[in-house]
Amino acid sequence: MSAAAPLADTTKPEPSFVPFTRAACEAYLAELQRALRLRDWTIEIDWGRPADSGYLASVGMIPDRRVAKVWLGEGFEAKPREEQRGTLVHELLHCHLRDVEAAAEHARTVLGAPAGDLLSRVMRNQIELATDAIEAAVSPHLPLPPWGGA
Ligand SMILES: [Zn+2]
Repeated sequence: MSAAAPLADTTKPEPSFVPFTRAACEAYLAELQRALRLRDWTIEIDWGRPADSGYLASVGMIPDRRVAKVWLGEGFEAKPREEQRGTLVHELLHCHLRDVEAAAEHARTVLGAPAGDLLSRVMRNQIELATDAIEAAVSPHLPLPPWGGA
């Protein structure tokens, strides 16, 4: 005699499992983009290549346009959802600093070395530190990726 299967608990909604797909990832990125006040940007995930080796994600912006591409690293999907959220938020926050990043890129051209190199290095370091700090403050208030959880 086999044990009877337990009755389903109909008082709780079914967990909404969303698989990690390109469409789910793009929809989640769009949700974060809206939350981070980047509605006037066109931001897409470029599935044609991964982020540079050693990075969970990276972002590239088109000069003088509000257009960016995000690349995901090979290990992105396997990371905890909190880390995935933080990574995407970090990359999106870089869009707000596009002109500062562009200035850092052109510092050497305008100022020459070594002053331009020094200024560029300091600016890039401060951009990363500020982006990390803002991400840490903002991310807990944003939704987690929908995949892998209820
Ligand atoms: Zn960064």
